[in-house]
Amino acid sequence: MRKVVEPPRFKGYRPFGVNSKSRKSIDLLYEEYEALKLADYDFLKHNEAAELMGISRPTFARIYESARRKIAAALVEAKEIKTVYGNAVMDKDWYLCSKCNARFNIPATMEKEICPACNSKNIELINK
Ligand SMILES: [Zn+2]
Repeated sequence: MRKVVEPPRFKGYRPFGVNSKSRKSIDLLYEEYEALKLADYDFLKHNEAAELMGISRPTFARIYESARRKIAAALVEAKEIKTVYGNAVMDKDWYLCSKCNARFNIPATMEKEICPACNSKNIELINK
């Protein structure tokens, strides 16, 4: 299991201006998103990023490489990117509201499992 500090803020990416009938998608794993974020967005060194994710440096390098290849393929081949759970384990229990797409975690003091942004009951746990 790989640690992901925060899940992606999206369910997927979709290219503009392509024939939707021929649309294919690429599954990006949460840990791949996290690896790419830590290395190319947060500019961490690979050994630092690996430590943060609780994995070895070679494993990190493999996940990172896989993430880059998938995103490059999605751009070049105009494919959708979908994020799937993969082998990631979140630091907290994160939920996603299906209605307003808010991401949140529910404190133990809260009785009802509802979206704190829109009060919708239509929420899903995204790290199980
Ligand atoms: Zn909501």
